[in-house]
Amino acid sequence: MKKILVTGGAGYIGTHTCIELIEAGYEVVVVDNLCNASKEGLKRVEEIVNVEIPFYRVDVRDKTGLIEVFKQHKFDAVIHFAGLKAVGESVEKPIEYYDTNVGGSFILAEVMRDFNCKTFVFSSSATVYGNPKTVPIKEDSPLSVTNPYGRSKLMIEEFLQDVFVADETWHIALLRYFNPIGAHKSGLIGEDPNGTPNNLIPYISQVAIGKLDKLSIFGGDYNTPDGTGVRDYIHVMDLAKGHVRALQALENKPQVLIVNLGTGNGYSVLDMVKAFEKASEKTVAYKITKRRAGDIAACYADPTYAIEILDWKAERELDKMCQDTWRWQSANPNGYPRHK
Ligand code: NAD
Ligand code: UDP
Repeated sequence: MKKILVTGGAGYIGTHTCIELIEAGYEVVVVDNLCNASKEGLKRVEEIVNVEIPFYRVDVRDKTGLIEVFKQHKFDAVIHFAGLKAVGESVEKPIEYYDTNVGGSFILAEVMRDFNCKTFVFSSSATVYGNPKTVPIKEDSPLSVTNPYGRSKLMIEEFLQDVFVADETWHIALLRYFNPIGAHKSGLIGEDPNGTPNNLIPYISQVAIGKLDKLSIFGGDYNTPDGTGVRDYIHVMDLAKGHVRALQALENKPQVLIVNLGTGNGYSVLDMVKAFEKASEKTVAYKITKRRAGDIAACYADPTYAIEILDWKAERELDKMCQDTWRWQSANPNGYPRHK
């Protein structure tokens, strides 16, 4: 059985990916410093899959701590989710963002090399396309970044490509996620943001549950069908499956694989409000306010390369994404029992 280290495996995408990995027959070990997660999420994953997951509360910047984990397990691959992800916060705290995201990836790759584990699946983001000139976005579209978070992702992508140039025995996947939403169908795990959510769907679900009054829609004057921003929302379980397929594709040969993980469908903010109202049978109050700094009009993937190279396609429709989010939110109105 192949053994995978999942860094950041206690977080939103990490917990869902642990399930897909275990269901696909992999053994999973998690490293997470729990700065944005609770141990409860992993406990619930263990309940869902009925398997114990070895967990180490280690920071990916802690080389000695990582070495200890690598001494105890022989890993076939690493999926690297651990990192900080809030765009606005990255502008306020660039040092923390570069240190955690870029510094953490350097240290992880170094330890992997030293233990001869050379399969690295990296969580990149559609943010590396900046403000795309055309949509849908293909993998060879121009890259540009506008904030420290995006720049940290692009730097890591470039770093990993340099690692491959120097040693072509590595197997590297740079997975560019679009907008993950939804939750495992059990309603036991889901996205659990700290404080007031920055992202659209967690915000809408907290309005629907009555924790927040009203959604502010950031801009009604974009050049989109209804004037509100358009994104490619993808079910987190489909995204998780994409990681399993990436591991399988990497087995074939050493390479750097760069793939979009999106659905190819663009939905506006108003589409999302309507879909969520339908799923939750609640009204989502909103007002249209001014644009959010740094936002773009439309961003959605061209998913054809993923179909071709990973034999993977997102399967769950928007209604399912909203129903699953709602099941998690309504069963856990305050998220997991408080962090840490
Ligand atoms: P998350 O915050 O839920 O998960 C990240 C996990 O990493 C958390 O459990 C956190 O405790 C852990 N972590 C953070 N810093 C760490 C460190 N120094 N050492 C060890 N663990 C650390 O976020 P997520 O939404 O699950 O995102 C996972 C990855 O996917 C991130 O790298 C993120 O940048 C990337 N990504 C997310 C989205 C999104 O919209 N959610 C989109 C594109 C890319
Ligand atoms: N959005 C919004 N109100 C919010 C949060 C987000 O109108 O409270 C909009 C945002 O302007 C964008 C879309 O919803 O058009 C998705 O935003 P999110 O922050 O979830 O993802 P990203 O902008 O990173 O794609």
